[in-house]
Amino acid sequence: MFFLVGIRTKERLLSTVTLVCEICGATAPQAVVQTSTKFTAFLIPLFPVRSSRYRLECGNCGAARAVDAGSAARLVA
Ligand SMILES: [Zn+2]
Repeated sequence: MFFLVGIRTKERLLSTVTLVCEICGATAPQAVVQTSTKFTAFLIPLFPVRSSRYRLECGNCGAARAVDAGSAARLVA
């Protein structure tokens, strides 16, 4: 019998908001990115193996910083 199982991490751009970057200090578009990791069977994602993580990526300097789920939800709304 042959089983094809694994874990896949997927990134999704939720929104882009204009904020002052904490790293470079410039007012620039910040991408709100969600990262989720799911268990897969036969390349089909079935269920999450860890809670989603969120980060902001600066469009000016490229720096990324983690934000919690509540902050990400407020930025996207
Ligand atoms: Zn920046």
